[in-house]
Formats: sequence, C-alpha cells, structure tokens
Amino acid sequence: MTSPLSILVIEDEEDIQQLVTYNLVKAGFQVFCADNGESGLRSFITNGPDLIVLDLMLPGMDGLKVCEEIRSVHKAEIPVLMLTAKGEEEDIVAGLAAGADDYLPKPFSPKILLARINALLRRSRLPSSDEDIHEKMVFVHHQITIIPHRYEVLVANEPIHLTHSEFQILLLLAKKPGWVYSRQQIINDIRGFDYSLTDRAIDVLISGLRKKLGTAAAAIDTVRGVGYRFSDQPG
Ligand code: CA
Repeated sequence: MTSPLSILVIEDEEDIQQLVTYNLVKAGFQVFCADNGESGLRSFITNGPDLIVLDLMLPGMDGLKVCEEIRSVHKAEIPVLMLTAKGEEEDIVAGLAAGADDYLPKPFSPKILLARINALLRRSRLPSSDEDIHEKMVFVHHQITIIPHRYEVLVANEPIHLTHSEFQILLLLAKKPGWVYSRQQIINDIRGFDYSLTDRAIDVLISGLRKKLGTAAAAIDTVRGVGYRFSDQPG
C-alpha cells in the first residue's frame, strides 16, 4: 500500500480550515494545518507535504511572503494553491507573481477545491497521460535545455527552478519555435478549456519565467496584440 499524499493547509479562519481539512481527509489525503504563515513554513519544512493550500490574508507573515519564501529560500517546486478574496484581480496577479500555481477565490465549493488540488497533483507527479512528460526528448534552444520527463530546465548548463505553470508555458512555446500562441491558447493548454485565468495572469507568469531565464530571457518574444512565441532566431 502506498502512503497517502499529504497536504498542508495554511489558513487562519477556523471554519474554512475545518471545512477544507474535513473534505481533504474524506478524499483520502493526510492533512497538516497551520494558523499562520510562520508555523506554516515550519510545517512545510518538517512535514514535507505534496501540496500547499495557502490563504493569502494571514496574520503576520502573509500568504505572498510564505509563497516567496518557499520558492526563493527553499527552492521548492511544490504545487501551491492560493486562496484569495473573491474577484480581487490584484490579489490573483500578486499570488501568481509570488510563485503560486493556481488560485481559488473565496467562497469556494469543496468539490472545486478538490478538483483543483487533484489537477495540480497530477501535473506535478509525472502524469502517465501526459505524453510530453514521458518523451525522453531534450529541447535545446538558445542557451536553454529542457528535459521534460525530468522537469528540468538548464540555462547555459545551470539548472533553474520553475514553478509547474512556468515550466508548462516554457515547454509549450519551446516545442514550436516561431509559433505564436495567444494568451487564451496558453491558458487552454496549461489549464484546460473550462478554466478561467485572465490574460494578465499569463503576462505575470511570462514575466516571472523571463526573470528566471536570465540571460536567455530574450528567447521568449512578445508579439504585440497577439501573444507570445519562442524565438526561432539563434540567441
Ligand atoms: Ca485569512
């Protein structure tokens, strides 16, 4: 028997923490809870969960700071689902910029929460249905090397750490250099057709990706009024 996947829930509102925990345990997950950012980070380090549900508004260290710390200090690629206030695009954009993979506005239905969590876990655990990931292909463009089945990206032979969303966008674009993708096509590819992610959220993910690509950032072209493409010019 394999051990259950574990999820860390960082949420200060007791009723929401209980609702989330109840539904996750019922779905077969092991759950760790934290009431604030500092104890959440400690739990992340000691328990090594498979995914984090992270409230944005927390007393003391807020969700953005927690997410940034996980990404920049601990270099962890663990999927992070951020809980945001309803319809606050600023919050959503800030969450994605801090390295969250997905977000869910409050109030949310437990069913949607579970669906999102399962989707994130599928994406992060070398899904057998995703042939791209199983291709033992290595993409080398400019100074960028992508090894899909190992989720690895190297820039000038140095590994860089991308979130799952950033990785998926890079792989999508790099597979067809010169091919222009609209923001909606990118959303459809990385999230599925019924998913609502704003164009601006894609811009934020691309800008985070470029930052991490550093000297190879120019490999991703902005096509004004259309979207993005991977440059087919030698870098
Ligand atoms: Ca809160």
